[in-house]
Amino acid sequence: MSARAPSSALQASARLTIDLDAIRQNYRTLASLASGAECAGVVKANAYGTGAEVVAPQLAAEGCRTFFVATVDEALRLRTVLEQADIYVLDGLPPGCGPLFTDRNLRPVLGSPPEIEEWASHCQNAGARLPAAVHIDTGMNRLGLSAREVADLGETQSLFDDFQLSLVITHLACADDPEDPMTERQRVSFDALCQRLPSAPASLANSAGIMAGELYHYDMVRAGVALYGGHARAGHEDLMKPVVRLEGRIAQIRQVEPGETIGYGATFRAEKPMRVATVTLGYADGFFRLLSASNIEEGATAFIGETAAPLVGRVSMDLITLDVSQVPEHRAVRGALVEFIGPHVGVDDVARLAQTIGYEVLTSLGTRSERIYVGGE
Ligand SMILES: *Cc1c(COP(=O)(O)O)cnc(C)c1O
Repeated sequence: MSARAPSSALQASARLTIDLDAIRQNYRTLASLASGAECAGVVKANAYGTGAEVVAPQLAAEGCRTFFVATVDEALRLRTVLEQADIYVLDGLPPGCGPLFTDRNLRPVLGSPPEIEEWASHCQNAGARLPAAVHIDTGMNRLGLSAREVADLGETQSLFDDFQLSLVITHLACADDPEDPMTERQRVSFDALCQRLPSAPASLANSAGIMAGELYHYDMVRAGVALYGGHARAGHEDLMKPVVRLEGRIAQIRQVEPGETIGYGATFRAEKPMRVATVTLGYADGFFRLLSASNIEEGATAFIGETAAPLVGRVSMDLITLDVSQVPEHRAVRGALVEFIGPHVGVDDVARLAQTIGYEVLTSLGTRSERIYVGGE
């Protein structure tokens, strides 16, 4: 166990603690659910806010050999910490970037005929059949070849002679909902379209797809949100360990009298005397303003030790106010840490309250908070 606490940990006003052992355990769980398919790690958006350059080597130590990022910049940073791994760029090949990909040994996920043509001609210039994945669209209509384009390219397979088709992927739109028939429709359509391309390893499943069962696993699964403790598929037993803990620090305690209001907009009026803690965490730390509390609407609940402390008033940029009347006085003191996400409140609990998904909660955290890593090797 090593804690890579930055020297400024004491002065940090908000801190995000990331449990690397939990991420590693989640990887092992997902890899075993994947029943023999290779389990790749999706570390886009800075590993969903947890810090790709720290997390990816931990996944590699668990045997992860293939990584997916969204952008070229993310791939370049990842390459500095992973010398060997296969790194795929999901957003594809930006025009003119072939030489950069080759220089850093990166693989584009090609999603349109012009991208495929550019990669093929780049390979001709380089005099090598360089690896790239192809993305087939089966219903998302964001990235990937349409059925028509697959058919056209399939007829003139010469483009595929110029490069190594190392992987064919598609992406599920509705796998979070086990009742949704679209997942199965996408699988059937993926099967049919893969037949028209040169034979290559295939990959369909994201985290939710892994939990949909063996039929969806193909040769490689692409685990993202579940690695970071997010609940990926409704109704699926939650086997993932929580990874992140978000805390703020009490800056001061004040007594608020009945009739007084708290915070911007004066949306909360005290009805009885209350002890209020002002905590150094705000929406600039990724704690959404939608989690605010007024007299009409309940907001988020924080925890000091085992005691709940409900938000009162609006979440502002840097500060949150809590009713700590129920918290023992010696616990609610200046400098004490307050849990906003952690053992008592999960990422998905916060997401529900903020009318969003765990993905957005995770990727919003850690912009300003101090990141502290525990566990790992
Ligand atoms: C983000 C992403 C994933 C990972 O999805 P999760 O739901 O986070 O597991 C997999 N494949 C593609 C193409 C993605 O964009």
